[in-house]
Amino acid sequence: MADCIFCRIAAGDIPATIVGRTEDAVAFRDLNPQAPVHILVIPTRHITTMFDADTDLAEVAVGQCIRLAVQVAKREGLEPGGYRLVINTAKDGGQSVFHVHVHLLGGRAMAWPPG
Ligand code: AMP
Repeated sequence: MADCIFCRIAAGDIPATIVGRTEDAVAFRDLNPQAPVHILVIPTRHITTMFDADTDLAEVAVGQCIRLAVQVAKREGLEPGGYRLVINTAKDGGQSVFHVHVHLLGGRAMAWPPG
């Protein structure tokens, strides 16, 4: 989508610190990190929210994002300490960018419950 900032990052039209890429997913550092490691993993193909993820294509795309997040977490030294994967969804989920993304947060102990 032309007006989607994350589609533009995936296409290389907007700069980002890319830390991983597969055919179907891109990982880059969050501009406003909430933990020592804060990386976003997005599907290359636009999916607006998890509301749209109940399809075979989206299942593969989101699965690829999780897989890339796990690989990046390992490279970032977050095993065996651990980390958190989060997908904020729509208004009540706190989503602000409407292109599905997995937050990979690590490098400190996480609190629960989340805010
Ligand atoms: P969410 O609130 O779950 O939609 O998360 C959106 C995230 O995208 C926030 O953590 C922002 O800091 C991050 N973000 C927004 N624009 C950019 C950008 N151009 N590059 C990297 N991260 C971004």
